[in-house]
Amino acid sequence: MLNIVIFGAPGSGKGTQSDKIIEHYKLFHISTGDVLRDNIRRGTELGKTAKGYIDQGQLVPDELIIDILAQVLDENKVNAREGVIFDGFPRTIPQAEALEQLLADRGTKIDAVVGLEVPEEELIKRILLRGQMSGRADDNEETARKRLEVYHNQTSPLKAYYEQQGKYRAINGLGSIDGIFESISETLDSL
Ligand code: ADP
Repeated sequence: MLNIVIFGAPGSGKGTQSDKIIEHYKLFHISTGDVLRDNIRRGTELGKTAKGYIDQGQLVPDELIIDILAQVLDENKVNAREGVIFDGFPRTIPQAEALEQLLADRGTKIDAVVGLEVPEEELIKRILLRGQMSGRADDNEETARKRLEVYHNQTSPLKAYYEQQGKYRAINGLGSIDGIFESISETLDSL
């Protein structure tokens, strides 16, 4: 069983690399961003609450997202599978602590955190390009800058948190999609 977190700033390529990792390692993909967007599309109460935060570039409150994650884990009997890739979660230290507990309760743990490292100017470029192509509402310049600020303040401290646990693996997130995937798979194969 292999449980990993794919970690990085907005626009660092987490979703793109997750798709390749899932296919190659047969992992179950949990993207909190996708879960939230799906709820917004279906017009659920959760979706309505989440939309306000997402459109402002803010994080959805920890209690809410932790509850959602626990539900997704249970619906999918995660401990009975090959493993999970967490994409977009954890984004704060309390979320990381909650994840540790949720997995411990289910007899499992995080094996590695794959950190995609990409310079700031490149992140903005990629987010704006994605906004033009996908029309994702939060991929406009103002919201993108806010999301990067939130990332620096609330999410980037997780790098040191996972380094302390010896789980953080830095990956250069610049280059071709296949080249980056190759670095990731070398890292995962050596675990
Ligand atoms: P990106 O990584 O490009 O910012 P995501 O699809 O992961 O995109 O997330 C989009 C938005 O959904 C975030 O800006 C945030 O508002 C909300 N979100 C997703 N995951 C979380 C989380 N773990 N905690 C709080 N908010 C979240």
